[in-house]
Amino acid sequence: MKPQNLLVVGAGLSGAVIAHELAVAGHQVTVADARNHIGGNCHTERCAETGVMVHVYGPHIFHTDDEEIWAYANRFTRFRPYRHRVQTTTQGRVYSMPINLHTINQFFGAAMRPDEARAFVATRADRSISEPQSFEEQALHLIGPEIYEAFFKGYTQKQWGCHPRELPASVLRRLPLRYSYDDLYFAQRFQGMPEEGYSAMVAAMLDHPRITLQLGCKITRTEAKGFDHVFNSGPIDGWFDHALGRLGYRTLDFRRFTHQGDYQGCAVMNYGDAEVPWTRITEHKHFAPWEEHAGSVLYEERARDCGPEDIPYYPIRLVNEKRMLADYVELAEAERGVTFVGRLGTYRYLDMDVSIREALDTARLFQICGSGRMPAFAQHPLG
Ligand SMILES: Cc1cc2nc3c(=O)[nH]c(=O)nc-3n(C[C@H](O)[C@H](O)[C@H](O)COP(=O)(O)OP(=O)(O)OC[C@H]3O[C@@H](n4cnc5c(N)ncnc54)[C@H](O)[C@@H]3O)c2cc1C
Repeated sequence: MKPQNLLVVGAGLSGAVIAHELAVAGHQVTVADARNHIGGNCHTERCAETGVMVHVYGPHIFHTDDEEIWAYANRFTRFRPYRHRVQTTTQGRVYSMPINLHTINQFFGAAMRPDEARAFVATRADRSISEPQSFEEQALHLIGPEIYEAFFKGYTQKQWGCHPRELPASVLRRLPLRYSYDDLYFAQRFQGMPEEGYSAMVAAMLDHPRITLQLGCKITRTEAKGFDHVFNSGPIDGWFDHALGRLGYRTLDFRRFTHQGDYQGCAVMNYGDAEVPWTRITEHKHFAPWEEHAGSVLYEERARDCGPEDIPYYPIRLVNEKRMLADYVELAEAERGVTFVGRLGTYRYLDMDVSIREALDTARLFQICGSGRMPAFAQHPLG
């Protein structure tokens, strides 16, 4: 293909991978981001006061089973071994998460073996609910009232901003318990933390003579003219000026504070009680156990509905949102010369490895199709 003049909206992981791949393939790529930094929501920066590497938009742990993506990410940064574990404080005690045999034995003051615990939980589960309709019914059906009340009810209410009986059962698809002492948060084969943070990894991706980076530059649909093709990793509804309404997101508020020494002894402490207004506290220095810092940086995190001026974090994607999304998809498919990518462009929650995988596949598809026949979506938002 003849070299093209391309615009990538957004300097997060999705935008950076597409820009890198297409610059290497010989195209001229302008990358523009509304923020004054690269990395999107994975952005990391060192705290000037403590030296701690801070995950500015909340904790990010790289985990994947995709060997190609693991190798790809390792080309741009050195990953340090890191295994994520989460604790939860509920009803005045601390337990191990995800709920495992240790949690169950601690919670019920028992010493059950796996089969015994399985049989015991079955006696607590409410099997009179034959077809659970809501999150609450599903939880009661699978695990019974005690575990539900302590670990799921308050936390889910804070995370979603509504009572679990108002959420569909599909939100809690699988049995959220492990009958072993495995307390690793993620099960994937490859896990780690970039030694100098995610923004350094993204900077290495964007470091190419055919890439021009423009920060603090919010792109609108009308400003994106004059390019052979546009890859938009910004919000799909924002691209159309919210003409059909705003797609619902949950946003996060972080109360940042510092501490001398070790505040909580772990990277992430969840809070299960509804009366505690935050969902979790993150202590960032525990993401880099190879570093030593006397001071500490913490984020107390609360979730709420996303307003027009807030940062969209988690797409809600329930029935009404999917209906509106389908209408935006129609508009997008009628648009010429734009491909919608990434978590905001396709209105999906995507882990980092999936963002990289989809961005790589998008760049490869562009090389096959050319700008003329490149579709609006390489990955369909409703697929
Ligand atoms: C709280 C939280 C925790 C997470 N933790 C993990 C984790 O532990 N592990 C994991 O694998 N994944 C995690 N993720 C997912 C991870 O953040 C995403 O995979 C990743 O951010 C997706 O990258 P992206 O480039 O698609 O989107 P983004 O990172 O959101 O980047 C989009 C960029 O586009 C820019 N932009 C938007 N509109 C415009 C415009 N009009 N003009 C110019 N620029 C624009 C934005 O400023 C932004 O920088 C987490 C997500 C959240 C919300």
